[in-house]
Amino acid sequence: MKNRIYLCLAHMSGREQAFIREAFDTNWVVPLGPNVNAFEQELKRYVSGGCEVVALSSGTAAVHLALLCCGVGPGDEVLVQSFTFCASSHPVTYLGARPVFVDSEPDSWNMDPELLEEAIKDRIAKTGKKPKAIIPVALYGMPYQINRIMEIANRYEIPVIEDAAEGLGSRFDGRVLGTFGRFGVLSFNGNKMITTSGGGALICRDKADAEKVMWYATQAREAYPYYQHEAIGYNYRLSNICAGIGRGQMTVLDEHIAHHRRLCSLYRELLASVPGIEVHGNPSSRYDSNYWLVTVTVAPELRIKGQENAYGKAVEGAVGGAAGVVHAASSLRTDCQPNDNVEALRVALDEAGIEARPLWKPMHRQPVYRDSPAYLRPFSLFGTDEASVSEAFFKVGLCLPSGPCVTEDDVRYIVDTIKNSIL
Ligand SMILES: *Cc1c(COP(=O)(O)O)cnc(C)c1O
Repeated sequence: MKNRIYLCLAHMSGREQAFIREAFDTNWVVPLGPNVNAFEQELKRYVSGGCEVVALSSGTAAVHLALLCCGVGPGDEVLVQSFTFCASSHPVTYLGARPVFVDSEPDSWNMDPELLEEAIKDRIAKTGKKPKAIIPVALYGMPYQINRIMEIANRYEIPVIEDAAEGLGSRFDGRVLGTFGRFGVLSFNGNKMITTSGGGALICRDKADAEKVMWYATQAREAYPYYQHEAIGYNYRLSNICAGIGRGQMTVLDEHIAHHRRLCSLYRELLASVPGIEVHGNPSSRYDSNYWLVTVTVAPELRIKGQENAYGKAVEGAVGGAAGVVHAASSLRTDCQPNDNVEALRVALDEAGIEARPLWKPMHRQPVYRDSPAYLRPFSLFGTDEASVSEAFFKVGLCLPSGPCVTEDDVRYIVDTIKNSIL
């Protein structure tokens, strides 16, 4: 029996243990120390452009602190790409503010600049206030049209927080994502391009912002001989142990990105002969995705074995094998879900020992955000009923194994499994 093939498992370079041992040997086991400093310096060198980088305990913490530094508070609104993982928008609500969702454009699957401007104008008209920040997201590593987003954001003087948690090393016009806006979010969770087991970082365009982030991340302490607090802070720094893993991972970052890109080309080559299945790719030469996850669309007319029984059985656990407690589903279906053939293909792959996952369900269709406004572009994909762009792709999309532990033979096996599941 083959080992199970996962979407994106962490892969160690071999140097991680040495950096961790050093932390133990020198007794630096706290959320500061030589590994943290060195990891930040290496990240800073990697992203370049004169940016500062602050290492944090997660990408979610990075979004949270970026919002805080943009002055987001109760009653404010923040424009967030709807097609994303929940960590882009949840921190908006932590601060008592409300996310306002913006749909995607069909090419990049990321924030539609025209809709962004419509949303800004409409929010000003409706609330008399400008949104406090704009969060575009590099979904699966694909860059957003940051040139146009920055032009609009600058015209309205609204700060941009780039969520590049999935896009470490992706570039637009040759420049690394996360370095265009006021802040750039990175994640080093266990399944991202590189890992610190759990961790993240905030790229800051200037030193003053970096110092503020560092201050908030260490409980906002004042300079007194005793604890004196004049603002609410957080315990969000990265531990020196985790930063040791990060230092080891930095030695294989370029290799990882090259591997993801190679797998994507191989999928594209092997799936070229399969009608109805298409690999998503860079819309033009200005985009340079790291292809963190390879994604495909499945045409609705493609018949997959067993699709008449799709959604017939409750799923155990949550997507991504999330740790801890998962609520049991109250129904087998929801009012917005991938098509039956996509679910049947996911199950067929699962039964062959291959983890595949639907695209992230757009936030404007999540019950928890039912009260958030959303600016959507009506769109018909494959000539089916009109939906928003993000919803249309959610219904037909699937993420395929793409990580450093996936081999080229695995890709051949995955593509064969896909071909065999087609009726
Ligand atoms: C993973 C992720 C985050 C959050 O990162 P964590 O380190 O898991 O907290 C934020 N945004 C996006 C788009 C992500 O995929």
